[in-house]
Amino acid sequence: MNLLADIKSMTLSELTEFITENGFERFRANQVYGWLNKNVSSFDEMRNISSKLRDFLKTSCYISVANIEKKLVSRYDKTVKYLFSFNDGECVESVVMKYKHGYSICISTQVGCKMGCTFCATGKSGYSRDLTPSEMLNQIESARRDLNIRISNIVLMGMGEPLDNYDNVVKFLYLVSSGDGLNIGMRHITLSTCGIVPRIYDLAQLRLGITVSVSLHAPNDEIRRKTMPIAHRYSMDELLRACRDYFKKTGRRITFEYSMISGVNDSDANAEELAQRLAGMNCHVNLIPVNTVDGTGYTKSDINRQQSFINILAAKNIAATVRRTLGSDINASCGQLKRNYLKTGG
Ligand code: SAH
Ligand code: SF4
Repeated sequence: MNLLADIKSMTLSELTEFITENGFERFRANQVYGWLNKNVSSFDEMRNISSKLRDFLKTSCYISVANIEKKLVSRYDKTVKYLFSFNDGECVESVVMKYKHGYSICISTQVGCKMGCTFCATGKSGYSRDLTPSEMLNQIESARRDLNIRISNIVLMGMGEPLDNYDNVVKFLYLVSSGDGLNIGMRHITLSTCGIVPRIYDLAQLRLGITVSVSLHAPNDEIRRKTMPIAHRYSMDELLRACRDYFKKTGRRITFEYSMISGVNDSDANAEELAQRLAGMNCHVNLIPVNTVDGTGYTKSDINRQQSFINILAAKNIAATVRRTLGSDINASCGQLKRNYLKTGG
């Protein structure tokens, strides 16, 4: 347990309060914040502050980092996948993708995940700990610096369940969108959840303007419970009610993720049922041919199945697209790089 304060998780006003309460001048907070934005990894690098303040910071705070442990670049589309390590040696994955409108980064929110979805590499590796707000920011900072790019979109779709680390994720959202920080607007942020219903209501109350993406992966509770343990806790009816509430409160259309697994959730009847469940909702369905993870026994639906599924949804006026696969040669779906890394020791 780190007893020092996580200085990079503080907003500028929190840092100002902390510094002035301890007898230092206000403007020092801006100087320190400036250094932190420059991504320094030690207080000694903050050259324009007094040694007294440096010593105080050293004994009261730590600077969190995300070091590049491994980096893979796709030969096909230049998608970049990182394995980052934090101060305590724990690792997570992030993926940077290039789209027409700019760069997008997929970041992790926990080391591992408690939710145990059967098709997911992260779910198979168990849960270690939550990430702090600064550790989420650091994934973006480190990738941005390494590639020398401007990142315009963020998706919280890496390792972990963001709504199971609610307070830290919300703090991160405020920090990353702040004018004092990376200044990435909430409209450019998407949070993906397996469907922790009460937290979806909480998030709607905050009216942040982010897009919520719900991992549905099934047209009914029976099929959903086969692959997603969370479906035993909240029914699809409850989940869809929360999604409707989110749209009503925020005006933001919900995206549903639907990983197509051959023979499990991809029949025409499954598509018909899904269309019925989503009828009248302002939403978009992303179909993702499931990525095969060792030991799951799942295979992706073939192209004809995908097309047939889409056609049925389209006929019922449900907008759906098959997600373009980026970085297929580097296992760009999160959880797999770390799994292989731990198995082979690098
Ligand atoms: N925990 C959150 C966000 C991280 S997972 C969630 O579950 O939504 C991000 C997305 O990847 C989810 O939609 C998840 O269902 C999907 N996913 C996980 N493993 C996958 C796999 N093997 N193939 C395709 N999609 C997968
Ligand atoms: Fe966790 Fe999401 Fe993987 Fe499920 S799919 S185990 S919620 S990371």
